[in-house]
Amino acid sequence: MVKTKIKINKTKSSRLNDVNFDNIQFGRVFSDHMFVADYADGEWKNFEILPFQNLDYNPAFNSLHYGQSVFEGMKAHLDSDNNVVLFRPMDNFARLNRSCERLCMATIDPQIMLDGLSELVKIDKEWIPKTEEGALYIRPFIFATDQYIGVAPSETYKMVIFTCPVNKYYDTAVKVKVEDVYSRAASGGTGFAKAAGNYAASLLPAKIAKEEGYDQLIWTDSIEHKYIEESGTMNLMVIIDGKIITPPAGETILGGITRKSVIDIARDLGYPVEVRQISVDEVIEAQQNGTLEDMFGTGTAVTITHISGFGRSGVDYNLPPVSERKISSHLKNELEAIKRNKKDTYPEWLVIVK
Ligand SMILES: *Cc1c(COP(=O)(O)O)cnc(C)c1O
Repeated sequence: MVKTKIKINKTKSSRLNDVNFDNIQFGRVFSDHMFVADYADGEWKNFEILPFQNLDYNPAFNSLHYGQSVFEGMKAHLDSDNNVVLFRPMDNFARLNRSCERLCMATIDPQIMLDGLSELVKIDKEWIPKTEEGALYIRPFIFATDQYIGVAPSETYKMVIFTCPVNKYYDTAVKVKVEDVYSRAASGGTGFAKAAGNYAASLLPAKIAKEEGYDQLIWTDSIEHKYIEESGTMNLMVIIDGKIITPPAGETILGGITRKSVIDIARDLGYPVEVRQISVDEVIEAQQNGTLEDMFGTGTAVTITHISGFGRSGVDYNLPPVSERKISSHLKNELEAIKRNKKDTYPEWLVIVK
């Protein structure tokens, strides 16, 4: 592969010493550098790593008006030899392009993204927290920059990757509300894409759920609000009677890379996994007859997050204490070890930046 030509302009005043790595708020602390590129005249150009800084914007940028804006979320860790390890990065870049295609935006060669990201994480390696659950959260995104307020696909775009040192996303198990009014995604829509507007639409229902005492939502299908889809920005898995059940990713359920990794890890460890629709009624019935063992979310930011209980139509249902959730805890430990290159089970999932 031809290495992308990247101009490198390093900061003269690193902010590294200002950061307390034991106490960082998720997504509010930014590493020293970012990788950027521009799309114009039908091609990506101006590949550059430069100090993290404000971008120029124009009030007529059409991404601000009509939402041509997509993003990714990924993580880098350090392995025991102090190398930076990227987890399935090409899967993220493939998904970024699927999101771009759905929003009629310019796609970008995944190899360019990998080359730029590899340089970036090498330069900002010291920003990866050495705490137990620490990681460098990576935020690639693309947005439209045409200065034109007609509703039309932009002909120019900006791509940026910046990174954030992070620790755990949730400190404890989360309590969720089964949403039966609002929908995140519908057939024919943009639910499978990490499109900025999807998240804007989720804020009001999530706020209402918070006011009712829940941490997060469980989205259900938009037609009957009968089947479980996902939770916030996590895919969902339910364990009933020893079987891990998760709904199929596709049009309305975002194809999480954590989700598909957890499915593979679980099957390889010998846990039965069923990928099929699961109704809220089935989960409630299992809770009532004592076979509901676990419910958890999977996602890059949250890794595996346990659900402590859920509410539907004002009735709350509890789950067993997290200390009894042997299967999901096992899966979480395996996944975390794999991401830090402590296992040799899935070498094809790792890109080690030397
Ligand atoms: C990003 C995201 C996920 C999780 O995907 P990962 O690739 O595992 O991080 C799940 N659901 C939604 C809606 C998301 O945006």
